Amino acid sequence: MSKRLKVFKFGGASVKDAAGFKRVAGILAAYKGAPLVIVVSAIGKTTNALEEVVIAHAKQTGDAFEKLEGIKQEHYALAEFLCGQDQELLTSLNDTFVEIEWVLEEKPEDNYDYMYDQIVSVGELLSTRIVAAYLKKTGLDTAWVDARDMVRTDNIFREGWVEWTETEARVKKVMEPLLEANKMVVCQGFIGSTSENFTTTLGREGSDYSAAIFSYCLEAESMTIWKDVPGVLTADPRKFDNVVKLDALSYREAIEMTYYGAKVIHPKTIKPLQNKNIPLFVKSFLDPDSPGTRISSDVEDHYPPMVAIESNQALVYISTRDFSFVAEHHMSYLFQIIADLRLQVNMMQNTAISFAISVNDVDDKVDRFAETIQEQFQARIERNLELITVRHFNRETLNGLRDGKIVMLEERIQGTVQMVVKKVPALSRKEFPTV
Ligand code: ADP
Ligand code: ASP
Ligand code: MG
Repeated sequence: MSKRLKVFKFGGASVKDAAGFKRVAGILAAYKGAPLVIVVSAIGKTTNALEEVVIAHAKQTGDAFEKLEGIKQEHYALAEFLCGQDQELLTSLNDTFVEIEWVLEEKPEDNYDYMYDQIVSVGELLSTRIVAAYLKKTGLDTAWVDARDMVRTDNIFREGWVEWTETEARVKKVMEPLLEANKMVVCQGFIGSTSENFTTTLGREGSDYSAAIFSYCLEAESMTIWKDVPGVLTADPRKFDNVVKLDALSYREAIEMTYYGAKVIHPKTIKPLQNKNIPLFVKSFLDPDSPGTRISSDVEDHYPPMVAIESNQALVYISTRDFSFVAEHHMSYLFQIIADLRLQVNMMQNTAISFAISVNDVDDKVDRFAETIQEQFQARIERNLELITVRHFNRETLNGLRDGKIVMLEERIQGTVQMVVKKVPALSRKEFPTV
């Protein structure tokens, strides 16, 4: 593909309401006629709402249809407000909803993750239909394409892994002719399909990754993710006041920060871009003319302290039941199970007969892990912890972060400090020390 191609990704926050859609169209107007692929997430918090539908259906609480109704109303209202009585659009939305209704009319599937993907994936199908129709109305020549015809994954539902060779061939086959015909291509983030054409999702917040997949396959000139922040900041502005925007970051720095919880970019996004040396821009959709952050290879690594916080950590203390050393063959057994469960291990430490890991406490993975190893190992789990990662630390930053926390596990390696902490419980009246 021509080197001029750009890939833009708009997240849920950028299309959360009609004003958001208008802002997106305003940004895109400047690119009329330019080769552009636009990857879009579900509107606002639709994915969370669809997860509620899945849970209601799985548990047969009786209100799955009612929950779906709220999502329907929101999408139809937005579609009609933006595009009026566009029958083609309304029919496509209706067809998408009918597919979920069929699922909800049946008994819940035994395979929860499979059912999850069939239902939750529609958020992106709906949002992209509205985006494509609305952009067309504003005078842009758009083509809507289905990511499931291109992104081929394995059959691990909710966390599909991309099969690159097949995906690359399909992306080129579907998108290149449209781009050559000067269409602005609109595509879903987050979703793909298996070789048997079952819909999969790539993991929560996976639309950034989808955009990187398309960028890789089409050898884009650059990729841009449009956010509600001015760029990559030294920490999450929702958690800290005095954050600073970084003008440039290396791929390495970006991958380290995002892997450990800097929610601004999905951690899987960086690798495909780095592999083809495609720069990634993180820019504000509220201030599109400001330069944002450029992530690429040619950056000098001098940074201020940066903080990433990953909540929902669980510390799992594992010990052998028969006092044998935890090392050697035990390690490979434990890591095989960790890999099978796709459990993200953020920190680990071992002694002679015990091993501690800090992992993201997602769904029931940690319990499944403990259950699987219980014959040979005792596992004690401590939940509701936070993982704090500080890159390029100084003493003041660390002291500030430790304040009011109990540090359960800490590690320093090459200018990075990681700690798993829990909040100091507020002292009750009785516990207050007496003189
Ligand atoms: P999207 O609309 O693409 O889904 P998200 O809400 O997932 O956007 O991501 C943007 C949010 O990421 C910001 O509003 C900010 O609160 C959060 N964030 C976390 N860490 C950082 C960071 N280091 N720099 C910028 N934003 C961050
Ligand atoms: N809509 C999906 C989610 O909320 C994917 C994404 O937004 O990146 O997780
Ligand atoms: Mg997001």
